[in-house]
Amino acid sequence: MRMLHTPVLVREVIDLLGVREGDIVLDATVGEGGHSEEILRRIGESGFLIGVDLDESVLEKAQKRLERISSRFFLINCNYREVEDFLSADKRRFNRILLDLGVSSVQLDTAERGFSFLLDAELDMRMGRRLQITAKDIINSLSEEELSELFFTYGQERYARRIANMIVSERKKNPILTTSQLADICRRAYPKGYHRINSATRVFQALRIAVNDELRSLSDFVSRVPELLLSGGRIAIISYHSLEDRIVKWAFRQAEDLLEVTKKPVYPSLEEIERNRRARSAKLRVAERI
Ligand code: SAH
Repeated sequence: MRMLHTPVLVREVIDLLGVREGDIVLDATVGEGGHSEEILRRIGESGFLIGVDLDESVLEKAQKRLERISSRFFLINCNYREVEDFLSADKRRFNRILLDLGVSSVQLDTAERGFSFLLDAELDMRMGRRLQITAKDIINSLSEEELSELFFTYGQERYARRIANMIVSERKKNPILTTSQLADICRRAYPKGYHRINSATRVFQALRIAVNDELRSLSDFVSRVPELLLSGGRIAIISYHSLEDRIVKWAFRQAEDLLEVTKKPVYPSLEEIERNRRARSAKLRVAERI
């Protein structure tokens, strides 16, 4: 198991955000603090960083890592869409905001979190323990139609119907409790010889989005970005699939008080992708508050 998550597009984020001494920064998906570590170095003793994450276990690691750099930060365990509730009214505006979406490699590689179809575990996929509904609940309670719709809209899975159909007939015999049971069903539901991507990738993506209400959190948050940014402040968002990127792109285009700094998304270099597999689907967009 990899012990540390390798942050994606760090130099590009720092440069395009224009992080400077004295900045007040919100890292809304602080994770283990990979980006925040570099940001803390840049903002110095006159700056301040608020780090947010839904996952209490990664925050412990971030706390230790960031303490070694500076004391000019504070971590909050919440969904980033609720961050304002945790900040006093005069502390809700930032010069720089970063969102690095999705799960971290450590979450993915920790079998018992149930995010990975490569590691056998209970079907969980909750990013934080306070969330109530797990992937197991969804798989065993939604109707065939609902499952098919979920895999199609959140997973863009073309065999959504076949997989949903097989899940429903399997669960009549035995409840579907583990990642490997579900991965096996996906494999069997796929037409023979269809090996373009792992047959479980998209179903797992769809479930993760549903369990953590990921797309609605993102839409809610991006619609409030203009209020959270000080004039001249910037936001950078790294997304990992087209459903996320579409939300970011339209939010930046539609907001009258945001200017796109990146007209087209910025991608990691080939060298970075070779070094870090998680970078391969990353897209960075940056906007500035007028
Ligand atoms: N930039 C970080 C890695 C972030 S990985 C680093 O370099 O270390 C994405 C993180 O976002 C994960 O830790 C995940 O728990 C968190 N996350 C995902 N959705 C969230 C949400 N809605 N609110 C808060 N945190 C969220």
